[in-house]
Amino acid sequence: CGIVGYVGRQKASAIILEGLKRLEYRGYDSAGVCVLQGRQLEVVKKAGRVETLVKEAARHQLTGTTGIGHTRWATHGGVTDANAHPHVSSDGKFALIHNGVIENYAQMRAFLSTKGYTFHSETDTEVLCNLIAYHYAKEPMEQNGHSRFLESVRKTLRHVEGTYGIAALCVDFPGEIVAAREASPLILGVGDGEYILASDASALISRTQNVVYLKDGELVHLTPASFSITTRDQSDVSPVVDKITWSI
Ligand code: GLU
Repeated sequence: CGIVGYVGRQKASAIILEGLKRLEYRGYDSAGVCVLQGRQLEVVKKAGRVETLVKEAARHQLTGTTGIGHTRWATHGGVTDANAHPHVSSDGKFALIHNGVIENYAQMRAFLSTKGYTFHSETDTEVLCNLIAYHYAKEPMEQNGHSRFLESVRKTLRHVEGTYGIAALCVDFPGEIVAAREASPLILGVGDGEYILASDASALISRTQNVVYLKDGELVHLTPASFSITTRDQSDVSPVVDKITWSI
């Protein structure tokens, strides 16, 4: 239902939780956050209110400066802590949040099971997360200068039918996020030494008014120093930075 991502110098969890609160008005049944601490993915997720997540998060040391957060509106699997996002791939390398519905997930889940991937939720999202891990493991080298992280997400999306706004973290790429959309909104906020991703401008407007509206079929790759946008077919996109003129 709602997406927030952060790359910068601040404590990511504080900014993400604040963004999730601003997305509450859209409705949801669960919420979660994942922060990269060094090469460790720290996940806190709960069925229920963002306030419940905030309390739970306060009991964890979420000090990392890169992270993703989500409010879920369940479509595949009940409203449980395990089904809440972010989901982590069974090899522990990727964390993923997702808005939308993956239509061919059952088939992909069966395929991934034969390859040794295991599942801890009933969601379509966890399948997508493991498919990224699968493509990553299959292509062990960087390709023609393209990031292995970015290319694994791109390959995955070429096999997916359905709708998505996604954001992914990878333990091998601290300080980076790969995000993409298809029939689900995703906005990049370009701040001062930081980037904020959100499914709705209200979640990022308190930090920046400079935004790039991503289009269907586009992927964005955030690193601490820069961002780039490409299409699923690997063409470069010249970003247009717009200015939001309203405030909250
Ligand atoms: N299909 C996913 C799920 O059920 C995402 C739902 C959403 O858009 O929040 O977990």
